[in-house]
Amino acid sequence: MDTQSKQIVFEQLQALLHDRVVDNETTRNEHGVGFSYHACTPPDWVVYPSSAEEISEIVKICAANQIPIIPFGAGTSVEGHILAVNGGVCIDLRLMNQILEINHADMYATIQPGVTRNQLDEALQGTGFFFPIGPGVNATLGGMASTRASGTNAVRYGTMKENVLSLKVVLPDGKLIKTGSKAKKSSAGYDLTHLFVGAEGTLGVITELTLKLHSYPQAIYAAVCSFPTVEAAVNTTIQTIQKGIPIAKIELLDEQMMRAINRYSSLNYAETPTLFLEFHGSQAELEEQVEQVETIAKSFGAKEFIWEKDEAARTKLWRARTDAAPASVAYRKDGQLMSTDVCVPISRLAKCITETQLDIEETGIYAPILGHVGDGNFHLTIVIDSNNPEEFEKAKALNKRLVKRALEMEGTCTGEHGIGIGKLSYMTLEHGEAVSTMWTIKKALDPLNIMNPGKLLPVLD
Ligand SMILES: Cc1cc2nc3c(=O)[nH]c(=O)nc-3n(C[C@H](O)[C@H](O)[C@H](O)COP(=O)(O)OP(=O)(O)OC[C@H]3O[C@@H](n4cnc5c(N)ncnc54)[C@H](O)[C@@H]3O)c2cc1C
Repeated sequence: MDTQSKQIVFEQLQALLHDRVVDNETTRNEHGVGFSYHACTPPDWVVYPSSAEEISEIVKICAANQIPIIPFGAGTSVEGHILAVNGGVCIDLRLMNQILEINHADMYATIQPGVTRNQLDEALQGTGFFFPIGPGVNATLGGMASTRASGTNAVRYGTMKENVLSLKVVLPDGKLIKTGSKAKKSSAGYDLTHLFVGAEGTLGVITELTLKLHSYPQAIYAAVCSFPTVEAAVNTTIQTIQKGIPIAKIELLDEQMMRAINRYSSLNYAETPTLFLEFHGSQAELEEQVEQVETIAKSFGAKEFIWEKDEAARTKLWRARTDAAPASVAYRKDGQLMSTDVCVPISRLAKCITETQLDIEETGIYAPILGHVGDGNFHLTIVIDSNNPEEFEKAKALNKRLVKRALEMEGTCTGEHGIGIGKLSYMTLEHGEAVSTMWTIKKALDPLNIMNPGKLLPVLD
């Protein structure tokens, strides 16, 4: 875009938003990288709308001038989702952070997209309800819906896919639509809600969400248990799931990850593969579940179980798990995080993780493993020396082999992080001809290709 046209767009945005249009370098750079390992690619402007109507007007200005739009929540996505690869307008949704309704009778909350998960947690305190989906950082609910995020509770409560009832969305032509309803289920037409959940901002801007709430459990127990091998820990997970024990969290940390968290948080856990577990239910249900899981774990050679029942001790126990990503980064001086995840059918999980561990060892890259293993989902928290191009290439090749392994096991190239630009090249490998069907949908809704262009869908020949 030439300088004169840019000036015209800037003036149109300013007339609408006044000082809520920012073009200084610091703000642009802050919005150009997220938590990804990709180089910063800033937008031309960052705008801060305060209503769906303003978003609609911004989108109309961009559509008239064929300017890319990048919706922005908290910028915690890891695959380069919010990079402005073709410049354009970054729509930062932080001012749209109102909790509009908490409905006790029908157990839902209606919120604006910039509400963060911590903010929602706080608003639900004392209501007897909670919203179970939470990545390991304070992401926004709009961003979480757009990446179809999950996290530690997904094994019991599902992902954003299962927990969004209804959305309001500004489409790429500026039209505002509502999808879904407040009813628990519906057979009325195409399921547009779930077209936008996971669309990574490529089909529209979410301006409102209605989310399912869950009753806060009567009792919660947490536990840590160490195993002689990764296989033993994963087989314990598989049997727990196959027996239908409704565990709320079951998280694997491998030897390297345990070493990193011990050092980071001055703890002294055994530095062997370890499961962090959590159980939700009534006291009687929990006693039964705990006994069943202990029996399974011991049959696979589990060593000691550490149980925590009161809230402060549970929070301390989970703190170690939550700090896993910063602990891995801190383990290597000047290290840069290159996080990646895959997901496989649970029966293949042990094979997938043990082959990956062997690959990591042979490659000589620092890559502790962390898994939401109850779903068959695990992450490599690769930490590389960003000034060493050879190491970067080795890490990329390791990631590629990981994805190939997961796909060969009929899994997916990402269980929860999404595609962004980091996993674009695997879309055709995973979906084949279905990628052109995705393009058909994209072109129908966004013929000018202005909504977060260059993300999620690879260019086809
Ligand atoms: C330490 C760490 C731990 C993490 N752990 C997890 C985890 O356990 N599980 C997990 O799933 N993820 C995890 N993540 C990844 C990340 O937190 C999620 O992808 C999260 O959903 C991103 O939310 P956000 O608000 O930061 O969105 P952003 O990063 O701002 O945006 C993400 C994508 O959504 C689009 N978008 C944002 N808001 C809207 C909107 N209102 N309308 C339309 N599109 C929109 C953006 O354009 C972009 O494509 C982790 C990240 C880090 C750094």
